Amino acid sequence: MSDVLTHDLVILGAGLAGLRAAVEASRVTKGNIDIAVITKGQMMRAHSVAAEGGTAAALRLDDGDSYELHAWDTVKGSDFLADQDVVDLFVHAMPNEILQLDHWGIPWTRREDGRIAQRPFGGHSYPRAVLAADKTGFFELQTLYDTLLKYNNATHYNEFYVTSILVENNEFRGLTVFSMTTGEFKVIRGKALIIASGGAGTLFGFTTYSRTVTGDGLGMAYRAGLPLEDMEFVQYHPTGLVPSGILITEACRGEGGYLRNADGDRFMEKYAPAKKELSPRDLISRSEITEIEAGRGFKGPDGLDYVHLDLTHLGADKINERLPLIREVCIEFNDLDPIEEPIPVRPVAHYSMGGIETDINGATRIKGIWAAGEAACVSLHGANRLGSNSTAECLVWGGITGGESAKYCQEKEKAPDVPEDKVEAERKRLYDDLLMKEGTEDMYQLRRELRSCMDKYVGVYRTGEELEKALGLIKDIKARYPKIHLKDKSHTYNTNLINALELCNLIDLAEVLVTGAIARTESRGAHARRDFPTRDDDKWQKHTLAFYEESGPRLDYKPVTVTTWKPVERKY
Ligand SMILES: Cc1cc2nc3c(=O)[nH]c(=O)nc-3n(C[C@H](O)[C@H](O)[C@H](O)COP(=O)(O)OP(=O)(O)OC[C@H]3O[C@@H](n4cnc5c(N)ncnc54)[C@H](O)[C@@H]3O)c2cc1C
Repeated sequence: MSDVLTHDLVILGAGLAGLRAAVEASRVTKGNIDIAVITKGQMMRAHSVAAEGGTAAALRLDDGDSYELHAWDTVKGSDFLADQDVVDLFVHAMPNEILQLDHWGIPWTRREDGRIAQRPFGGHSYPRAVLAADKTGFFELQTLYDTLLKYNNATHYNEFYVTSILVENNEFRGLTVFSMTTGEFKVIRGKALIIASGGAGTLFGFTTYSRTVTGDGLGMAYRAGLPLEDMEFVQYHPTGLVPSGILITEACRGEGGYLRNADGDRFMEKYAPAKKELSPRDLISRSEITEIEAGRGFKGPDGLDYVHLDLTHLGADKINERLPLIREVCIEFNDLDPIEEPIPVRPVAHYSMGGIETDINGATRIKGIWAAGEAACVSLHGANRLGSNSTAECLVWGGITGGESAKYCQEKEKAPDVPEDKVEAERKRLYDDLLMKEGTEDMYQLRRELRSCMDKYVGVYRTGEELEKALGLIKDIKARYPKIHLKDKSHTYNTNLINALELCNLIDLAEVLVTGAIARTESRGAHARRDFPTRDDDKWQKHTLAFYEESGPRLDYKPVTVTTWKPVERKY
């Protein structure tokens, strides 16, 4: 029998969604719930700390903003693929999340009159991004972490890598994990699970995400029988710093920055005369690529041709007060000061709109499992997320899933038994099979091939031919994966083993993404097909679902919930 650690509620992930869930479960039970928060990194090191620009909420109902306007912006931004009941719940819940964080002590940036400041963000018709300078995610995470400590009821499993989700009779039973510091294999058993493990940004080479964001929760959920929804929709952020891919926040344009081509023209005037640089991300990314392909970009290294993001007219005071991190990043990584010079930027893989399918309350099809944050697809963002709606989503559905799962735990007498045969099979997979592998394939080469295939063939613009090429390459990589060689056989801090597990998840997700993209013969939001350049609502206003099968994903579809707005042409 393995080492089994038992808790009531198990939370996979310590980012904004995971910590918000832990706080809410603690709050509604007045601390009478035993929680496990698991992270493969450390507390306060989840990728959420990198969120820069802001968190959207309609706060100024006395000054021109409204719930309806926030909802409309989100639905239009989603290219009419968001579920409108979900959007409605979201916009009404958000103001309270902002005020709640305020009460818990977050240092929101303030206006002169002391009210919480907000700034413009792309695709929003009102300046509604609440901010803490350009370090919003860091301060949000810190505030939630400090608040959680007050309850003193959560065990923090730092540097614990979750390898599989145990399910029996369609009910959650536990997780298999190994301690990265000691190599010990354990089971974490519980009544309920919230998957809050973040996105899958490192499917791509040129990405804003750190090496740790490898889609583990999505891969494990998929293999445990949960469908992944709308995975073909990947957001390309228009301002990735060239050549590193570090995010240059949309807040730069929110504060008044311009995009210019090599002729010095503000080209967005041509593509979106009303919103210009504050258009949604899908539209700006396509416009940048169009400018570059027409020869009006700058030559960059390794094909990373770029345009300019010009902040020079904003002045030193504004940049230092509102965008200090961006200035620091540009000086540190590109040896350029944005007060003096424009910044080289191009579209960069940034966000997974898709994820684990959930209902409006974040519940999945498996009893006792919820999902929240970037790992989940509650269908808020549809085909294109608006900036500042993601941290907001983590707060709202972190809160909802924390509350719902806590109730479930209170009603359930004890955690169900773990299926020993599945635990044993997982232990064998890790230690007898994977760790002992002496194959001929270099897994880092496979990872490089996967990323370059995604960068090359699954970009801002796609074609059926390129996507088929990508799928062929992914299938080849999948076939070679069992022949990888693990050089490091030790149990402590074995990064070879961790990378091998991460690669397995990335390969499965790449296959799901590209299979969904090939099938969707239309252009909608971030999925822009040159061979099917228009949106086809009759055929495709529906969500893609991908179910795991050994031979590859099986696709199915489900309708979009339309409560208020029928699709119309998106104009900005
Ligand atoms: C540079 C950048 C800037 C951004 N700026 C903004 C912004 O201004 N506004 C906005 O709304 N959105 C922004 N976003 C998006 C937003 O930050 C993310 O979508 C959001 O923070 C994701 O939070 P999360 O809690 O879902 O996941 P994460 O913060 O990624 O946390 C995932 C957690 O899961 C853990 N985990 C994963 N796999 C395993 C495993 N196998 N075992 C154990 N633990 C595991 C990780 O260790 C981590 O603790 C930005 C994104 C980036 C990359």
